[in-house]
Amino acid sequence: EMKGPSYEKLQNIRQSRLNPALATYYSKPLALHQGYKQWLFDINGKRYLDLLGGICTVSVGHCHPKITAAVNSQMDTLGHVSNIYYHPKLHEYAERLTDKMPGELKVVYLVNSGSEANDLAILLARLYTNNFEVLSLTNCYHGMSPQTMGLTSLGAYKYCIPQPPGHHHVMNPDVYRGIWGGANCRDSTVQTTRTCNCSSNFCEASDKYFDQVAIQFDHNIPKGHVAGFFAESIQGLGGIIQFPKGYLKRVYELVKKNGGVFISDEVQAGFGRTGDNFWGFQGHDFTPDIVTMAKGIGNGYPLAAVVTTPDIAKALTKASHFNTFGGNPVACSVGISVLDIIEEEKLQENSKLVGTHLLSELAKLRSEFPIIGDVRGKGLMIGIEMVNPGTKEPLQSKKFLKFFDTCMNLGVLLGKGGVYGNIIRIQPPMCITKEDADFTVAVIKHALQSD
Ligand code: PMP
Repeated sequence: EMKGPSYEKLQNIRQSRLNPALATYYSKPLALHQGYKQWLFDINGKRYLDLLGGICTVSVGHCHPKITAAVNSQMDTLGHVSNIYYHPKLHEYAERLTDKMPGELKVVYLVNSGSEANDLAILLARLYTNNFEVLSLTNCYHGMSPQTMGLTSLGAYKYCIPQPPGHHHVMNPDVYRGIWGGANCRDSTVQTTRTCNCSSNFCEASDKYFDQVAIQFDHNIPKGHVAGFFAESIQGLGGIIQFPKGYLKRVYELVKKNGGVFISDEVQAGFGRTGDNFWGFQGHDFTPDIVTMAKGIGNGYPLAAVVTTPDIAKALTKASHFNTFGGNPVACSVGISVLDIIEEEKLQENSKLVGTHLLSELAKLRSEFPIIGDVRGKGLMIGIEMVNPGTKEPLQSKKFLKFFDTCMNLGVLLGKGGVYGNIIRIQPPMCITKEDADFTVAVIKHALQSD
């Protein structure tokens, strides 16, 4: 049981002393107090199944004892020193993390947040290529720092200030909502919509979306002078958007041909979440030049990373590059533990097993409830797109808000995403079970049935 300020006191402090630009879920915001594995407990002790995992961050479960032990032991030994010195945890972690990467991706920079990682990736791309222009997809989220706000393409996360120069957006290859379809060509566990005319090795939609990238290169980039292209392997905040097959690989090739590098943002799709692969890009059959990571890498501890090739890393040696907290011993201990736990508890395999089961069950709900426009995803990265029945208009009704409240009251915490906020996101700690998945489906079904 919690000892501390009352709900009213928390509410008062939130309203008067904390960031007023931050929306909270639910008609009465939840006050959470404790976590254990895939569960959260509110200040009254009520338990919830956490299907958002601190925004796709609590990868291996809340309060994992192995992480707690590693943090305590490291705090007792050496809490901070800065990485101008050698220290064993930093070196051990650098080796462990880059062992997970394919090819030449062996040099790691440790930082403290996803925005910082993407900022550094922009810098690396520009210094390495001597080019300036960076591209990303409409509907993407890559951070909120002044630089990464230029990459991000969701109006809700933009301010009326000049956006940083050198950023371009290309049409998102959204196979559900986009104009060329392609839904049966995404790499999804369940196929719920069939809208494109494709063969096994050719996707018409993929081709058309790719043309949009080529058009940007022809019209808006100095000929042959691109610095980099950023994309997630599956868009997270954008609403679990999966791309048609072949798209990312072809974009990668076009970027390389024009003198640029490809940056995979694995902040959400990495660390086994997609089930089939440890990294999301591995599902797209290419190896990027730079990979950025955050969130799941530290199970909630502020830890993020950029991994690249020795050749690209050389570009950053033109000046000193320093980050006080990046690679601190405690963060590195957490990072090592997360890698251990994913392996020991077979969490990537569990993502695939439980994720596939959940996706199939949700697909059944889709055929029952026309308010569900689309069910998609891979592993434990799942999206349910809510629409006005019979259309693809994003559901914006009070009913949707009530739906969230009902699920919460029944003990299930879901996420929200997409530019219209009409996509339910499920990105839980990867330790959830089949029983949790069945419970989730039952709760969603009940909430959809009640007004
Ligand atoms: N990239 C992606 C894909 C993200 O989802 C986020 C956070 N939502 C970020 C980058 C930025 O991470 P942070 O909030 O740690 O700066």
